[in-house]
Amino acid sequence: MIIQLTPHATAGQIDAVVQKAQTLGLHAKLVSRDHHRALVVGRVPPNAHTNTTLTDDLLRLPGVQTIKRASKPFKLASREAQPHDSVIRLPGGATIGGSNVSVIAGPCGVESLEQMLETAEGVKKAGAIVVRASLFKPRTSPYEFQGLGEEGLDLLREVKRKTGVLLETEVMHPDHVALVEPVVDLVRVGARNMQNFDLLRAVGQGRKPVILKRGLASTIKELLLAAEYILDAGNPDVILCERGIRTFETETRNTLDLNAVPVLKQLTHLPVIVDPSHGTGRPDLVLPMSRAAIACGADGLIIEVHRNPPEAKSDAAQQLTIPQFEALVRAVQPIAAAVGRTMPLPLKAIAP
Ligand code: PEP
Ligand code: MN
Repeated sequence: MIIQLTPHATAGQIDAVVQKAQTLGLHAKLVSRDHHRALVVGRVPPNAHTNTTLTDDLLRLPGVQTIKRASKPFKLASREAQPHDSVIRLPGGATIGGSNVSVIAGPCGVESLEQMLETAEGVKKAGAIVVRASLFKPRTSPYEFQGLGEEGLDLLREVKRKTGVLLETEVMHPDHVALVEPVVDLVRVGARNMQNFDLLRAVGQGRKPVILKRGLASTIKELLLAAEYILDAGNPDVILCERGIRTFETETRNTLDLNAVPVLKQLTHLPVIVDPSHGTGRPDLVLPMSRAAIACGADGLIIEVHRNPPEAKSDAAQQLTIPQFEALVRAVQPIAAAVGRTMPLPLKAIAP
């Protein structure tokens, strides 16, 4: 059930509606207070009064405009709950969602302080607004590089202190959330953990925006329901990421499902970014698929960049060099402009 409040509903009236809905047995939640609009989404429990009595009781309250049934199972993520795009605000004024195309870049995994400093400076100069900094690596084989783990946190503190960049990192266990939050600006739930419900609840109770990657074999609806866990747990800042799905095709590592971008943009107000690195597994395809992603409406890109890809401890085959990444940012800017989006200019381009 979605309760739409009038544009002039006061804060007191809004709170009274939420409280009344809760007293009536609804699992009520205020979705948005901005733009002079506010909505309450409630799940109707089986033992609540009949729907008509509920609706009548709520409609009588001052500030209530309309009440309608939520037609989607992902109630909070749906555009029914919030028609306008969500914009995720990051420290220092950076945003993800809205009119910008935001680029996140960095290595597959954190390997050393020198590697991170060089990469962070390089991708920042090229126009990335957030640096990838994975410490916990979900690897198919237990014998492959598992990441620096908790011990890498001091290294990330140093990267932040020296470069001032925003950092994002993957969490694989609910305990990782509290561990990384003091150091990073966003957390990421990887494809393999998209339906790790304890982890989703943990990042939902966290304080940092969450990048939620689509599972290797997950439908768009399953991705949105995974996002719903995070929203329902209280964290409104979720960024969805299309990273390719498993198909019969073997020329590419995954099949980047760009259909998902416009479909998601129709269904949800959450920002949608694309990972062409894991989506293709091939550096030569990262640029064309980045262009395509922006052309079809993506709010951003997340790209793997290594100072020397052949030496990378994970995903050596797909990472771009720093100069390749700089060239990519320049090459996608005209596409962003052509579809009415803005992209922060790389520092080099605006230098005198
Ligand atoms: C990653 O982004 O580092 C990663 C492991 O990707 P995915 O979860 O999409 O496989
Ligand atoms: Mn990787």
